[in-house]
Amino acid sequence: MTASTVTAADLETLHRQLGREPRGAVAIAARCVCGRPTVVRTSPRLPDGTPFPTQYYLTHPGAVGAVSTLEANGVMRELQERLHADTQLAAHYRAAHDRYLAERYELDDVPEIHGISAGGMPDRVKCLHVLVGHALASGPGVNPLGDEALELIRDQWRPDRCTCSDIEPPSPAESRPTDTEEPV
Ligand SMILES: [Zn+2]
Repeated sequence: MTASTVTAADLETLHRQLGREPRGAVAIAARCVCGRPTVVRTSPRLPDGTPFPTQYYLTHPGAVGAVSTLEANGVMRELQERLHADTQLAAHYRAAHDRYLAERYELDDVPEIHGISAGGMPDRVKCLHVLVGHALASGPGVNPLGDEALELIRDQWRPDRCTCSDIEPPSPAESRPTDTEEPV
């Protein structure tokens, strides 16, 4: 097991983004241009002992929402069909799966999920949130379908354009009225 590098401030942001206590966070794998986490690297075994295959978990509500819309629009079936038809794409996707697992084994090799990555890899497309989380954590060129999904949502959300203020509640200082009405 690797010691966590997640700061208290990161944990606080994750809590707000997820709407619950983050579990098993070992590192922030990707950040918004403003520095807030977008992907949390998570231990393959949660503190309560549950095996957890999703090593790169997408946390940014703007990204999560945009990807959910994409999933609802039937994009997964198109990607699945292309994956069957395009052997080069299939090989690239399988390589992403292998790398995902190799990186997860660096954290811990949990027998219950040995050989099982996430998101449908290596030959299915089951969760675009997982693939986008992997693409953001790894950078372009590692997860081809994650890269494509990111490209498809870039008008709604992208990591180099901060939209965190849309989801962060205003700080107490900002929410205070700036001018007070004089009593008549
Ligand atoms: Zn931001």
